[in-house]
Amino acid sequence: WRSKRVAAVTGGNKGIGLEVCRQLAGNGVAVILTARDEARGAAAVEKLRGAGLSDVIFHQLEVTDARSISRLADFLKARVGKLDILVNNAAVGGAEYVPDLVYPSANVEDPFAGMDEGQMSEWMRRNTRETYNSAKETLQTNYYGTKNVTEALLPLLQSSTDGRIVNVSSVIGQLRVCYFVSEELKQELKDVGKLSEERLDELLGAFMEDFTAGAVEARGWPVGFSAYKVAKAAVNAYTRVLARRHPELRVNCAHPGFVKTDMNRLAGLLTPEQGARNVVTVALLPAGGPTGKYFASGQEAPF
Ligand code: NDP
Repeated sequence: WRSKRVAAVTGGNKGIGLEVCRQLAGNGVAVILTARDEARGAAAVEKLRGAGLSDVIFHQLEVTDARSISRLADFLKARVGKLDILVNNAAVGGAEYVPDLVYPSANVEDPFAGMDEGQMSEWMRRNTRETYNSAKETLQTNYYGTKNVTEALLPLLQSSTDGRIVNVSSVIGQLRVCYFVSEELKQELKDVGKLSEERLDELLGAFMEDFTAGAVEARGWPVGFSAYKVAKAAVNAYTRVLARRHPELRVNCAHPGFVKTDMNRLAGLLTPEQGARNVVTVALLPAGGPTGKYFASGQEAPF
């Protein structure tokens, strides 16, 4: 393992994460497939080994649990002494769909056919329910999970000659599209020169306060999967802050595309394999490539 490139993938037991593990391993990378649930993670590793990918091992990782994160860091330190690629993939959807959900289009290949981003946002607002607990869990998993795993594994990434981080993001956290209703917030998140982790903490704290006060829309936060959108926008911002802080690493984020997984009740357009390719392309960019960038469907795009 010490002679190979080594990757760790969070949420590797299913969906896009599992396919990211498969494709990295297929490209000669030794993979630590992590999952919060031991049985689901071990079963996923067996599936990949059964397909002839022998350099895949399992390690438990619950991204919201500091002790679980430390155990992974200790294991990596003892077993390999470095980490070349970290794919922060684990996330929760963060909202329940209404029970009698009907998609806007009968086109099963594209349930949102013909809708623009504003119409999709409005549909999401009407057809999902977020609670205080789901919003909190979403920020804790999707943003703080990503950040805390990254911070714990940074020394190992710095021990690689070509350390890379790919944060799996989403088009619905992208500022360019109109999901964020407040221009002020968009500007704040865009201005990378002024952004800091402390400011992101303040913004997320303010979001939770506004959420509790029922003032999400009134205060200019995005609606419909609001915590998910805010968390992904924060992941994008953190990616740029981290890239600036660590010029020795390549730190990017990648939108996999709209992918059929449990997260969207299989309503996506791409297969998990296609979605994973959009992530793995970024993870395996040639040495000395871009950092602090956002990629959509494998191509660099504006934040
Ligand atoms: P899935 O729901 O299929 O997979 C999510 C994975 O994250 C599962 O392995 C899940 O584990 C894991 N996970 C959730 N919470 C935690 C936690 N606290 N600790 C560790 N692991 C956790 O979703 P996708 O494959 O679709 O999502 C993968 C990534 O892609 C996410 O970051 C998502 O936001 C992003 N994405 C997905 C899109 C899509 O269209 N599907 C579009 C844009 C972005 P478990 O099985 O135990 O629940």
